[in-house]
Amino acid sequence: MSEPSESLLSVQGLEKHFPITKGLIKRQVGAVKAVDGLDFEVRKGETLGLVGESGCGKTTTGRLITRLLEPTGGKILFEGRDITHMSQGGLRPLRRDMQMIFQDPYSSLNPRHTVGAIVGAPYRIQGVKTEHGTKKAVQDILELVGLNPEHYNRYPHEFSGGQRQRIGIARTLALRPKLIIADEPVSALDVSIQAQVVNLLEDLQNELDLTYVVIAHDLSVVRHISDRVAVMYLGKIVEIADRKGLYEAPMHPYTNALLSAVPVPDVKGRTGRERIRLQGDVPSPINPPPACRFHTRCWKAQEVCKTVEPPLAELATGHRVACHFPENAPKDAVPGDAATQVPA
Ligand code: SF4
Repeated sequence: MSEPSESLLSVQGLEKHFPITKGLIKRQVGAVKAVDGLDFEVRKGETLGLVGESGCGKTTTGRLITRLLEPTGGKILFEGRDITHMSQGGLRPLRRDMQMIFQDPYSSLNPRHTVGAIVGAPYRIQGVKTEHGTKKAVQDILELVGLNPEHYNRYPHEFSGGQRQRIGIARTLALRPKLIIADEPVSALDVSIQAQVVNLLEDLQNELDLTYVVIAHDLSVVRHISDRVAVMYLGKIVEIADRKGLYEAPMHPYTNALLSAVPVPDVKGRTGRERIRLQGDVPSPINPPPACRFHTRCWKAQEVCKTVEPPLAELATGHRVACHFPENAPKDAVPGDAATQVPA
């Protein structure tokens, strides 16, 4: 983790609505609002953690940023350049700068290809000729991620889960990207292997000056690796702050509930935080609750929460939260937004 600097990626009002169609003529009768108006920045050299329950839209967000999905609204700027609707031809050079690590190291590697072919594929796709040839370049990357370069001709089934994820990471590094989106990079791995892969990601960041967006549902993993953390609920960001601010003084009730469920090894370390059990399921993104989307599950909800959508307001500390009644907020840090009030 390094000192954050200028913006590498800027996401403004990003939306992805998947149409629901009916009948032979496929008349649109609704939409799944998977991502519904996201605003955030990723600074060069930092790691932004993106967390939330399953189905909150975090994986869709990762796929939108890398343009594996076409946004239906908003803007994506990479190094100041608008890439929101860039053509596939225009995106090709961009694919060198932006890569994605997938969740499942078993299904994301072609079982019929050797490790050499998998990790070397980006060179062939991009038509890049390396100084010493592809084999040498691939072997160097295998060594970088802690794999034996002599295993160049082996197949994925000959490796363990952790080693397969290292192969996946090696593939993303082939073209020396600037930004890596890691979608649940360790959730499919044995707990004993998770720390090794997280440490590897950190070492690679320092060595290769990488910027990460790490998507995860596991708040312990995100805490370990992130400089800043964004919390998503039902297609929207409800809170975003630096790691210390978010974990030590969360302001959104939903963040509080998520953190209260994180197991802590030492009972003294609980600092009095009681487990908050959220009632009910996440509402459908086809028909999300009006105003504050969390109000159907929030124990603090009041009338205003059902009628006025709380903005993602920025406090003087840089901590941003979308709640009319944020917790842990110093009164003098709350902006003068009429919709955001701190209870006495
Ligand atoms: Fe709860 Fe209201 Fe805050 Fe929404 S705005 S999180 S319902 S207190």
